Amino acid sequence: MIYGLVSDIHGNLESLETVLAALPRIDGLLCLGDIVGYGPDPAACLERLREQPGLLAVVGNHDLAACGRYDQDWFNPYAREAIIWTAEQLSAEQKQYLASLPMTLEVAGATLVHGSLPEPMDYITGPREALGCFDALSDSLCFVGHTHVAELYRLRRHTRFCDQVSLWSGGRVVLDPDLRYIINVGAVGQPRDGNPDASFGVWDTEARVVEVTRVAYDIAAVQRKMRAARLPGYLVQRLADGR
Ligand code: ZN
Repeated sequence: MIYGLVSDIHGNLESLETVLAALPRIDGLLCLGDIVGYGPDPAACLERLREQPGLLAVVGNHDLAACGRYDQDWFNPYAREAIIWTAEQLSAEQKQYLASLPMTLEVAGATLVHGSLPEPMDYITGPREALGCFDALSDSLCFVGHTHVAELYRLRRHTRFCDQVSLWSGGRVVLDPDLRYIINVGAVGQPRDGNPDASFGVWDTEARVVEVTRVAYDIAAVQRKMRAARLPGYLVQRLADGR
């Protein structure tokens, strides 16, 4: 099976369309959460994603916050402002859909979760947090998003040697059976690893290969929409900065 992997779309329709067009022929699309929040097209992104054949998605903290299921005190003032705006753009049915998404999923021997394990909304920002996630992980492969940083963590079986590899310019990962992996496929809609290009992954389960690709999209068009919607200027600027 060949799966597309997307995360942190964040209401950015231009980057989502660019990624969908760049995907090869896939058997299903796996989404690691945060479909909405920050960007100017939350409802359109949600509908576009739901149209995708074989879609499997886990929920993100912004998805939950937009439907009133996550405490907004966890967010910085810019994110909170965008969440309040996002909630106004979504229908009751769309919020119900977001609220119905699971925290974790198991697909073809891999675990899907927005942030980490055992707490789905924790952040993995270094080997220490990654080890905690490996300890709670029963599979040898875990896909995450949440930090908007494309990277991977590798752990040699039966050891505590965990290393961190950046995928900020993309990369092809051949999965070694002696290693366990946590792979962050980066953000479709708001990259923060210094590369403003949209990020996505493709996982070939038979070849045991995960490929992360970066693709440029029309950032200026999204920024115009964000300004028109009076979304916070800081969020508008960070799309271009990739931080
Ligand atoms: Zn996010």
